[in-house]
Amino acid sequence: MDKKDFDLFVIGGGSGGVRAARIAAQHGARVAIAESANFGGTCVNRGCVPKKLMVYASRYADQFTSGAAYGWTLPGQPEFQWGRLIGHKDVEIQRLEGLYERNLQGSGVETLSEHAEIVGPHTVKLHSSNRLATANTILVATGGRPDVPAFPGNELAITSDQLFHLSEQPKRVLIVGGGYIAVEFAGIFAGLGSQVTQYVRGPSLLRGFDEDLASLLSEHLARRNVRIQHGQEVRRIELQAGGLKVTASNGEMLEVDAVVLCTGRRPKTEGLGLDSVGMETSADGAIMVDPFGRTSVESIYAIGDVTNRMNLTPVAIREGHALADRLYGGLDVPPLNYDLVPTAVFTTPEIGVVGLTEKAAREKYPELRVLKSKFRAMGPAFAGSQDQVFIKVLVDGPTDRVVGIHLLGDGVAEMVQLVGVALTANAKWSDFRNTVALHPTVAEEIVTLRG
Ligand code: NDP
Repeated sequence: MDKKDFDLFVIGGGSGGVRAARIAAQHGARVAIAESANFGGTCVNRGCVPKKLMVYASRYADQFTSGAAYGWTLPGQPEFQWGRLIGHKDVEIQRLEGLYERNLQGSGVETLSEHAEIVGPHTVKLHSSNRLATANTILVATGGRPDVPAFPGNELAITSDQLFHLSEQPKRVLIVGGGYIAVEFAGIFAGLGSQVTQYVRGPSLLRGFDEDLASLLSEHLARRNVRIQHGQEVRRIELQAGGLKVTASNGEMLEVDAVVLCTGRRPKTEGLGLDSVGMETSADGAIMVDPFGRTSVESIYAIGDVTNRMNLTPVAIREGHALADRLYGGLDVPPLNYDLVPTAVFTTPEIGVVGLTEKAAREKYPELRVLKSKFRAMGPAFAGSQDQVFIKVLVDGPTDRVVGIHLLGDGVAEMVQLVGVALTANAKWSDFRNTVALHPTVAEEIVTLRG
């Protein structure tokens, strides 16, 4: 075989691609990675990280209010300045982006800040430098991009790609969609004092999540003045003096400063040259892969959101790491178990989930035991908050194995990460019950829960 320029050429410098490149290089492979926008990808630049910073910002409103019950008074009326948050966030994101690129270089990976297109099973064309690079293996890790529905005036709306760069806080916001991104931004803007309307085309929020969680979240968002409209879609957006005029499917006319489309994401494959190698893709444009990330082209692999399996940063990271270990570390890493991936939705209060929903668990386990509890946590309740904590544990009766845990409340994302350890270790409900409670905490309610 002729000597190629690289052992591995990674297209896409997001979380998954960066991990695969670094681990492969640490195993001794000659690796290059091309990224046409920002190293760190969606998560660092336009997703999880800036989103979480904005979630933190949005939660101060509650803290200022509740401080009074704990004896605090503020010298004046707290005032939120969007520009200061965005500016500070930009500095942090720039730092992280630089860190990603430097860590790659430190591992011996050649970083290329340009668009790469596949032109053969072992060849990529680099657009800015106009050169060809060859590699024994190509890894596609280009992620996804927001999906924009077609309607007149959709170019006046923004997506999460633009949201983090708005120069001014939109005081009146329409959020379109009922998924992760939609509810998180509805919560963020409500916390920051914007007037929020949310159009959800289906009958409930967070399709695919446990139904109790979704309806309880809906109550909490409504309590924070998010006006949620179900069965509602945008028909048209027009520019008018002082803002945007939205015409909705039920005829409602709404005046807002920004319309944020949170209507799902699609695999990012444009300009990748997949046709040039006859790559198989699914109806939604995702690259089809086997459980080891192999595509229909023997020398090309794909990981992360471009494969549209479970679009979560840690999943892409695990897929990338495992691939590099298998190809260059000689390790026999089994495929990832997608059934027990913990996940969180960073609303206020937040959601944390691991395992099956009650609906799915009932189908799989006919003798399912469902244990639930709903209460107000001590800290916020003392300050008069009506926010609730919700706990649902799903147990397979005959084996006593815990098959799903669904939480809503302050800090439950942190809890569910560790609860995930227990479920991954096949914990039984008796293991939870035998664990001594840690008092006074919210988490103790999980181990003291009774049917
Ligand atoms: P989701 O798939 O979660 O939600 C999309 C929403 O948009 C759904 O409510 C869907 O409705 C609605 N929708 C789709 N098309 C239209 C349309 N044409 N008109 C009106 N509504 C529409 O996607 P997101 O964009 O929220 O998030 C993308 C992915 O990013 C998620 O799957 C998740 O994996 C990841 N993510 C993870 C986060 C986390 O871990 N905290 C945070 C943010 C994103 P319907 O249900 O009826 O289809």
